[in-house]
Amino acid sequence: MPRTISTSLIEARNLRVYFYVKKGALGKRGIVKAVDGVDLVIEERGIVTLVGESGCGKTTLGKTVAGLLKPTSGEILFRGKSITRMNRKEYMEYRRSVQIVHQDPYASLNPTKTVFQTLSYPLMRWKLVRGRAEAEEKVKELLRLVGLTPPEEFMRKYPHQLSGGQRQRVVIARAISVNPSLVVADEPITMIDVSLRLGILDLLLKLREELGTAYLFITHDFGAARYFSAKGGGVIAVMYLGKIVEIGPAEEIIQHPLHPYTKALIDAVPVPDPEISRKKRMPPLRSLDIPSPLSPPPGCKFHTRCPDAMPVCAEKEPPLVEVRPGHYVACWLYAK
Ligand code: SF4
Repeated sequence: MPRTISTSLIEARNLRVYFYVKKGALGKRGIVKAVDGVDLVIEERGIVTLVGESGCGKTTLGKTVAGLLKPTSGEILFRGKSITRMNRKEYMEYRRSVQIVHQDPYASLNPTKTVFQTLSYPLMRWKLVRGRAEAEEKVKELLRLVGLTPPEEFMRKYPHQLSGGQRQRVVIARAISVNPSLVVADEPITMIDVSLRLGILDLLLKLREELGTAYLFITHDFGAARYFSAKGGGVIAVMYLGKIVEIGPAEEIIQHPLHPYTKALIDAVPVPDPEISRKKRMPPLRSLDIPSPLSPPPGCKFHTRCPDAMPVCAEKEPPLVEVRPGHYVACWLYAK
């Protein structure tokens, strides 16, 4: 994609995050290219939904965007400035502005702290309130925002006294307490009860309306991606073994998916009507197993599973090309 001076909230440029790990019984060193040359733009108040199976690198990308992991190469720009060239004040502002909501609301909260202690800590740390009285008022406001009412009751509770959905609401309240510009929501509904999932997605979308927060929404479930994007718009990016293989406006990707992997993810979403389900089936994948990220296949990394694979696919990696306006795909079916 063309390079320009960035005016976006976040821009990742040719981002690579590699991990060096022991490989095999002999303990030889191997490299996992968790993120391998990713370009990604998140606009102010925008939504980017990142979809892919477990192990495709999407959590690593989310953590790197949030400043929790250091890139091996490439750069991240926050409001046009590379985070590696920031002074301490600018870097702290970036870290406050990008918050993360992790997948597991059970592990995300300290079991020995009440909800008030959990939520008042970042307010004090970032000097957003002065004194306990102001902290109490702000915590009540946050609890009302995330639908935990009456707030006086929830403030006194410990995590074990809350349901999974209520805990995730506390985690979201903590993330938004410091007025972030971007929330990286990493599989925020995976570990909570199915009946509560849409409520959490609706809450995230409501907060965007009220607070103007941008999202990097990470999910393995195309059904969740479709729900979030249908209501919030934005961009869908599909990731496979460290690379973005398809990206474009959400509605465009949902209506006109091009990459065989995207089609397989869409195909995996259950449809209540068996007749529609039968008609929409794509040819089955050649393998259900994701190749080891320690020794990914050459050429197109999806070729060992792709029902449309051709000889060229095993030899050369397809470039990411624009096939329809704003809609990019990395697949030899579309590249010249
Ligand atoms: Fe399938 Fe080839 Fe396209 Fe890869 S490049 S997705 S193997 S058709």
